[in-house]
Amino acid sequence: MMDFFYRCIECGKQFDITPDRMVCPSCSEKQKKDEPLKGVLEVGIEGRLKKEWDIFDLLPVEKKYFPPIPVGNTPLWEPENLRKETGFERLYIKDDSLNPTASLKDRASYLVAAFALREKIKDITVASTGNAASSMAGVGAAGGLNIKIFIPASAPEAKRVQALQYGAEVTEVDGNYDMAYDLSLEYTKKHGSLSRNTAYNPLTIEGKKTAALEIFRQLGLTDGRTVGKTVGLAPDYVFVPTGDGVILGGMYKGFEDLQRMGLVDRIPTMYAVQATGSNAISYAFREGNFRPDYSSKTVADSIAVDIPRNGYHALKCLKKYDGRCVEVTDSEILAAQRRLASTSGLFAEPAASSALAGFLKTKDEIPPESRVVLLITGNGLKDIGAALRGLSETNP
Ligand SMILES: [Zn+2]
Repeated sequence: MMDFFYRCIECGKQFDITPDRMVCPSCSEKQKKDEPLKGVLEVGIEGRLKKEWDIFDLLPVEKKYFPPIPVGNTPLWEPENLRKETGFERLYIKDDSLNPTASLKDRASYLVAAFALREKIKDITVASTGNAASSMAGVGAAGGLNIKIFIPASAPEAKRVQALQYGAEVTEVDGNYDMAYDLSLEYTKKHGSLSRNTAYNPLTIEGKKTAALEIFRQLGLTDGRTVGKTVGLAPDYVFVPTGDGVILGGMYKGFEDLQRMGLVDRIPTMYAVQATGSNAISYAFREGNFRPDYSSKTVADSIAVDIPRNGYHALKCLKKYDGRCVEVTDSEILAAQRRLASTSGLFAEPAASSALAGFLKTKDEIPPESRVVLLITGNGLKDIGAALRGLSETNP
């Protein structure tokens, strides 16, 4: 049996996992506008895994509450042409565009929906640049939940249409993600629904860790490694498209859990890949502080954020585990999108393609025998406008 609780990443204080607990009350008192979230909570785990375990054993909501929609278990590709072209024979792609709503965000929505169902909550609210909205709408639909979405009017049309098809109530905000975020929290407070805002609801970070747990298992199968009774292996490097730092935090959390359970002896080196036009975490990693006057601009809408909500947590993990940041331009992202599609048959959205762009930019500093995983977070059909631009601006 495992015990789960919330723990503040700043002061270490512990809390029960309840619907009204989102951030640490004392640390969040110091919250200023225009800076990352203070008092982000992570899920602490105590106990020992059974010899035959499954991923649900490491999640704080029991398996029976998860809605009937096949989230996760996405494939780990072995991209032969890219391997040859780059000289990395152990290059892998974790293809999370194959989740039900075509993005990695389903992992967070899945856990939040299961928690709502366990707590008998019917309404979930979310602010999103697009993917979290369509994801929560789809996964919520499978769970019979009511989903209310606040989305910037500039979000790609496909993501909005997806959310509407799934039956969500969509409010378009004439402004950026931060405005949508504030409006959604006002709505949550007024109507008492559960917030799925990324980083603010700790289960969003926790849900995304399952990508790391799956990579561990899949690499073990490919490379024939066993740890005790578990087949598994941690990669050496993971390239993670990074906007607000939640997916990055989730990936670290997955490997940290595996380390706590004695299944890996070290945490992979993560590369946080940011767009040069949305580089808040990379800037803070380099300069030591977050800029207050930030304004993002990039073709990769899913990693375009002004305030990286999970910035403090992401930075803490990068420093603790000797992670790295790499920035890529929009043209590098669009070229990588086209290269990934034309060499591997995987059509990823620009944010997801940044993983390949970041790898191509830094591969000379990585030993070529390393096991490298590119995390592909969303499908290219979600933003045809950007892909069209890539066709005219880049060479195949
Ligand atoms: Zn605290």
